[in-house]
Amino acid sequence: MEVKAFELNDIVEMKKQHPCGTNAWKIIRLGADIRIKCEGCGHSVLIPRREFEKKMKKIIKKANEQ
Ligand SMILES: [Zn+2]
Repeated sequence: MEVKAFELNDIVEMKKQHPCGTNAWKIIRLGADIRIKCEGCGHSVLIPRREFEKKMKKIIKKANEQ
């Protein structure tokens, strides 16, 4: 089963990659809306939590894992 429990500073992969060619986003704000920042170009977007959960594919790296 796929785990979709995400936390602040986790790196996630989205269903659609960013136009810059990177598909790794860091969660930099958690709330009713979620702000993620592209690890490739630093562009950040704010999306509603429900939409984020739909568009997020998987967690690449947990913030609390080394
Ligand atoms: Zn980018």
